[in-house]
Amino acid sequence: MKISSLFEGGRTVFSFEIFPPKKDGSIDTIYSTLEALSDLRPDFISVTYGAGGTAAGCSTRELVTLIKERYHTESIAHLTCVNSTKEDIDRIIREFEEHGVENVLALRGDINPNFPPKEDFRHASDLISYMKARSNLNFSGACYPEGHAESANIVEDIRNLKIKVDAGAEHLISQLFFDNNFFYEFLEKARIAGINVPIEAGIMPCTNANQIKRMVTMCGASLPPKFTKMIQRYEHNEEAMRDAGIAYAVDQIIDLVAHGVDGIHLYTMNNPYIARKISESVEKVIRA
Ligand code: FAD
Repeated sequence: MKISSLFEGGRTVFSFEIFPPKKDGSIDTIYSTLEALSDLRPDFISVTYGAGGTAAGCSTRELVTLIKERYHTESIAHLTCVNSTKEDIDRIIREFEEHGVENVLALRGDINPNFPPKEDFRHASDLISYMKARSNLNFSGACYPEGHAESANIVEDIRNLKIKVDAGAEHLISQLFFDNNFFYEFLEKARIAGINVPIEAGIMPCTNANQIKRMVTMCGASLPPKFTKMIQRYEHNEEAMRDAGIAYAVDQIIDLVAHGVDGIHLYTMNNPYIARKISESVEKVIRA
């Protein structure tokens, strides 16, 4: 099923993101994680794509197929292009088509100074145009409520986002943020710019202070005072930090749904306990 069709009729979509197990991780863990996550009946699960794309003998593509076939849940394969040639992408299109993958979150990927980018695809929009001309796949893209780190400003970033949507991205998922006002302001600017596809808000529960500090350094999300106070107070108490982080994410989601957002994309960090706590707290709010 085409992901963008899930939003038809103004439904609020609720989706999850997972990552493939690490190379030394157990494949059994991912089965139990997927079983627990699909029990929560998300509208779809997206699977990230790391350098190389395979881990513990289980690639993004394999997980996407597994989610669909074994757990009867719609799925999206993330795919980056910064280190790929056209030949690599041709091979991936064939593999996706052979295995019934229908939806792709097309990304540029972060530029790693140790691996100079290949020349074939400069932006996610190039990847979408290329794949769209050669397949029947459906495309989603990433967006950045506080602007992408490489953009001079949010206006330039939204102008570039419009190029991605015009190239064929039919649905967008946002970078994480901890202050909903950034998302509302971004949404308003995106709509004025003529970006009319469904935009899901990416929510990352902060349940481990160190992990969040790492993430925030990487993606540059602003931390509102309410959020930093929470971390300062609970970072040395694992259970209190987890519960406070869950409550913060629930509060963000309720506010977003009350504002009529198209969907919520939960960065689960492969943690079914946290996904369950959040899902149970917001289920009635989302489906009301
Ligand atoms: P682009 O859309 O290409 O944008 C990158 C920069 O180029 C921006 O500054 C933009 O303004 C500018 N730009 C875009 N198009 C044009 C154009 N046509 N002309 C000129 N400038 C342009 N990374 C992974 O490695 N694996 C993952 O699985 C993964 N999943 C992600 C999921 C989500 C929801 C998000 C938000 C990010 C994810 N990332 C992932 C990170 C992502 O790869 C990085 O943020 C990367 O730096 C940008 O990717 P992009 O697809 O947004 O790039």
